[in-house]
Amino acid sequence: MTEQDARAVEALRAELEAARRITLFTGAGISTESGIPDFRSPGGIWTRMKPILFDDFVRSEDMRREAWRRKFKEGEGALWKAEPNQGHRALARLVSEGRAGAIITQNIDNLHQNSGVPPDRVIELHGNATYARCLDCGLRHELAPIRQAFLERDALPVCQSCGGIVKTATISFGQAMPEAAMARAQAETLACDLFVCVGSSLTVYPAAGFPLLARRNGARLVILNREPTDQDEVADLVLNCEAGPVLAGAVGLGAGG
Ligand code: NAD
Ligand code: ZN
Repeated sequence: MTEQDARAVEALRAELEAARRITLFTGAGISTESGIPDFRSPGGIWTRMKPILFDDFVRSEDMRREAWRRKFKEGEGALWKAEPNQGHRALARLVSEGRAGAIITQNIDNLHQNSGVPPDRVIELHGNATYARCLDCGLRHELAPIRQAFLERDALPVCQSCGGIVKTATISFGQAMPEAAMARAQAETLACDLFVCVGSSLTVYPAAGFPLLARRNGARLVILNREPTDQDEVADLVLNCEAGPVLAGAVGLGAGG
């Protein structure tokens, strides 16, 4: 651990210990140490391909085929194999100790849940890429059979219950934000006296509005990110470090988590 990291660990520990109630907020940066590229990494899948807009997915069978082709053939493979890292485990500890009420995440990788956080403590603003849902009735569909039918027969999934269009449970560009998740995120943001952002460039709205709301509501704002973010100026503490080791150190997880 560098000297800068060691100082960051101490500063973050002091913030966490002084807080009455913490709200955690995460972006793609907490999962890069698990091998999932973030939005900005050169070569990351989100930068190589133009995103498929929600309306195009609904309107066009070709677009749906392209979306599933990308998912199953273009190496979203990292998402299937990824395991939580020490940063996820450190945040899970803050939740299990009752110090953090919830984790608001922009991630779609399910790694907070996989690190042991109860699903009802994870607020997903952009949905979840590890399963699918019917766009009409909302029924959950697992990916494994969809994948098999697509790879073997080029078949597109339809809802087992109502015949509707099935899509991964992510929020696409042009798709409405999930209302319940937005409302819960707002409530958790307003309930905390410490709001900690980890691994987010804080450029994607409306998600990036939550740290600003917390700050306006009188909470302290901490930003832990490898590089500067759009909201460093309004933060009470900015730590430009690798997330995993600093989080693990600050909550007292042993080396390697
Ligand atoms: P972003 O890519 O815009 O920002 C990630 C930030 O994390 C960057 O500023 C980067 O410097 C920082 N970072 C990367 N690795 C880090 C590390 N180990 N330690 C500390 N900082 C690190 O991500 P975003 O703000 O979450 O927005 C991107 C959008 O793309 C989101 O809407 C999200 O839904 C989606 N996305 C999700 C995943 C995922 O689920 N894992 C991955 C990529 C993109
Ligand atoms: Zn249905």
